[in-house]
Amino acid sequence: MKKNVKASYLNDFKCIGGVCEDNCCIGWNVEIDKKTYAKYEKIKDKELTKYFKKYIYKNDVSYDKNVDYALVELEANKHCPFLNQEKLCRIQAELGENYLSNVCSSYPRLINEVDGILEYSATISCPEIARLALGAKDGIEFKQKNAGNVEDNIINIIVNTKKEDSPLLVKYLQELRGLTMGILKSRDYTLWERMLIIGIVFRKIQELINLNKAEEIPGQIVMFSQKVDHRGFQREVKPLPINQSAQLEILKEISDKFNDSNEIDSERYLSFINEFYKGIGAGKKSVKKESRSAALKQSNAELSNRYNVLYKDFYKPFMDEKDYILENYLVNFVFQSLFPMTENNQPFESYTNLVIRYSLIKFNLIGISGFRNGLTETLVIEFIQSFSKGLEHNYNFFEKIGEYIQQKNYDTMEYMSILIRN
Ligand code: SF4
Repeated sequence: MKKNVKASYLNDFKCIGGVCEDNCCIGWNVEIDKKTYAKYEKIKDKELTKYFKKYIYKNDVSYDKNVDYALVELEANKHCPFLNQEKLCRIQAELGENYLSNVCSSYPRLINEVDGILEYSATISCPEIARLALGAKDGIEFKQKNAGNVEDNIINIIVNTKKEDSPLLVKYLQELRGLTMGILKSRDYTLWERMLIIGIVFRKIQELINLNKAEEIPGQIVMFSQKVDHRGFQREVKPLPINQSAQLEILKEISDKFNDSNEIDSERYLSFINEFYKGIGAGKKSVKKESRSAALKQSNAELSNRYNVLYKDFYKPFMDEKDYILENYLVNFVFQSLFPMTENNQPFESYTNLVIRYSLIKFNLIGISGFRNGLTETLVIEFIQSFSKGLEHNYNFFEKIGEYIQQKNYDTMEYMSILIRN
């Protein structure tokens, strides 16, 4: 029996299946592991057997037989063919939970193993998890307990921090991730200050690694924790730049370039992106040829003005009250992505990735607030859920943006501050 650490919101989670507004059995590939596939071959029920033969086929490019040995062919409307009229899974209803594939029975849970301890969290792409996790006013807790049997569940990442030859960030994973989550939960600071402090920390950690002075990392971690407790970062945070026009320009460039509807299969997310463009007043204008550059200048100024107004009138007042929603999103991401191992074991690159998520969510919500005339908790949670479903399951999205940020030399603390501060 292994020990486990479990995110608090999982205690209350129950799949709402048929009434789920963004059901996981719609729009995504359904993967069947080898053991479950063998069980389906032995089924006696004639009708189900007919369905299995018609819709399940072996996957020629399987990367792991415990995950995607076979696939389910979706219907033309992208529904899993095993969903009945009430949008409930027929396999589960007629054969029981034990007949669900590893992927179907695991989702939305995510399991990592760190030093033999199983870490349970869940993806925000599930609307019910999004409500429970993001809506937790007092924040998300991670508690350690003795685990049950987890034999058939998919373990996402296995890490041993004690191994002599582990990369540096693996060795210090627990301390660095703990420090990051501690900063994110330090509510004496505003969320944007917390994001900047994390940047200052990881700029230093990156510097120590580059200078081959990794032995100083443990001492720095202790020093950083004390500094957070005593508000010692104020002097470093204050002079970091704030430039809302540049923020708008960079994030709009990213949004225009990477929100490719051919690659994003969440209708809900794409519909929010439409609302964003309408709300911010972009894409509505027809610019006459003869005055293109003057009009463009003016339209950029108008855009920037509207962005600032929407931030001040809608986004800021809402987040002054409810920034725990974004805090919870970030804490959950840091925990389950084993931050700062997230990006090629480069701490500042992982931080950049965190900032991209934070700033894109903020940016989109500012635009959406213009379309909807304000923000509500339900709306913000729905948007972040769709963001997670549309982008976080699209493996290349954040990687491509990360590369773009590097090409443009935006990967500095100054640019991170421009993306974070308003
Ligand atoms: S998305 Fe979540 S609540 Fe909805 S059907 Fe899937 S597991 Fe259930």
